[in-house]
Amino acid sequence: MGNDQVVDLRSDTVTRPTPEMRKAMAQADVGDDVYGEDPTVNRLEEMAAEKLGMEAAILMPSGTMGNQTALHIQCSPGSEVVMEERSHISNYEMAAMAALSGLLAHPICSDDGMMTAGQVRGAIRPDIYYMSRTALIVLENTHNMAGGKVMPLNRTREILSVAEEAGVPAHLDGARIFNAAQSLDITVRAAVFGFDSVMFCLSKGLGAPVGSILAGAKEFITEARRVRKMFGGGMRQAGIIAAAGIVALEVMAERISSDHEAARSLAGGFSEISGIDVPVKPESNIVMLRIKPQWFEEQVKKTPPENGDMSGAFVDHLRKANVLALAIDHEQVRMVTHYDIPDDGIERAIEAALK
Ligand SMILES: *Cc1c(COP(=O)(O)O)cnc(C)c1O
Repeated sequence: MGNDQVVDLRSDTVTRPTPEMRKAMAQADVGDDVYGEDPTVNRLEEMAAEKLGMEAAILMPSGTMGNQTALHIQCSPGSEVVMEERSHISNYEMAAMAALSGLLAHPICSDDGMMTAGQVRGAIRPDIYYMSRTALIVLENTHNMAGGKVMPLNRTREILSVAEEAGVPAHLDGARIFNAAQSLDITVRAAVFGFDSVMFCLSKGLGAPVGSILAGAKEFITEARRVRKMFGGGMRQAGIIAAAGIVALEVMAERISSDHEAARSLAGGFSEISGIDVPVKPESNIVMLRIKPQWFEEQVKKTPPENGDMSGAFVDHLRKANVLALAIDHEQVRMVTHYDIPDDGIERAIEAALK
C-alpha cells in the first residue's frame, strides 16, 4: 500500500485510507445526508456520540468547521473565548472566529501549553458594562503546538469546575483526544466528561481520509446542523466518508499506542544527536525538535544558514533522504507519528539527521 519510499512525518493527516476503509467505502449504504437520510452517516454519528458519552454527534467536513460551529453556537458577537495562546483555534483557523462569529480570543500564556485553573479564573471577565463577556472556555487536548502534550485529568477537572462556577460553557478541541485518552490510560468518554461540546478528528491518527465529529447535547447538535449548512458544510452521500470513519473508530483507535511508542523512539534517537534538542518528552504522537547551530557544524559539517532558518535547512536536509518533517519557526521542527509510515521509518528519520 502507498509509497514506502517516503517517511512522511509532517502530520498524521497524511495517512491514507486503509484497505479495510476502502472496502467499507465502496460498499457503503448511502442517502442524502442533508435530508438526514444517509444510514452510514447516521450510524457513525450514533457510534461517535456513544463513544464520547454525549447525547448526539454530527459529522463535519473538517475539524475547523467543527470548532467554528461550536463557537458560533455558544458565543454571541463581541464576546471573548478563553484559550491557551498557541491553540489551533486562534492560530490555524484563518481567524474564522472573528470573521464568522465576531469573537475575540482571550489568550492565556503558558510555558508548556497547559493553562491552570487559576489562569482561567483570572481570564474570565467580571460583569462590568465596559467589558466584553466571556462566552466560552476552550481546552486543546492533546495540545498540538505544545508538542502533543496531554492535559492531566485533574487539571481538566479543575478548569471545568472554574467554568461551571462562572456559568461559562467549555468546548474541547479534541482533534487528537483518542491520543490523549490512550496516553492517560482512560476511556475517551472519561477524557471528555464535563465538556459542553467536543470536536475530534477522524482524519488524523485514526486514519480516515476526511471528517471530524462534533458532539454535545441534542439541542446543540440540532443547532449545529443548521450552522454547518450555513457554513457550506452540508454534504449529500457522505456515507462514503462516514464508512471510513466507522472503521477509524472500530479498528484504528485500538492501535494508537504504537504511534506513541514510535514517537518515544524518535525522540530518544534525536536526543542523542549533537545539536538537536528534544525539549519536551513526547506524551503522544508528536515530537518537537529544536535545531541548533552545532548540528550543522558538528553533525553534517556545514555552516549554519545565514538567514538563521535552521529548521528550514534541517527539513531540506532530511527531504533529500525522503524524510519529511514540518518546520514550525526558525528553530523548531515538528514530527508526527502515524500508522502510514514504513516499518523502518523511525530508523530512517534518525539516520537522515546523522549524515
Ligand atoms: C488538526 C486540528 C484541528 C482541525 O483541523 P482541520 O484541518 O480543519 O481538520 C483542530 N484542532 C487541532 C488541535 C488540530 O490539530
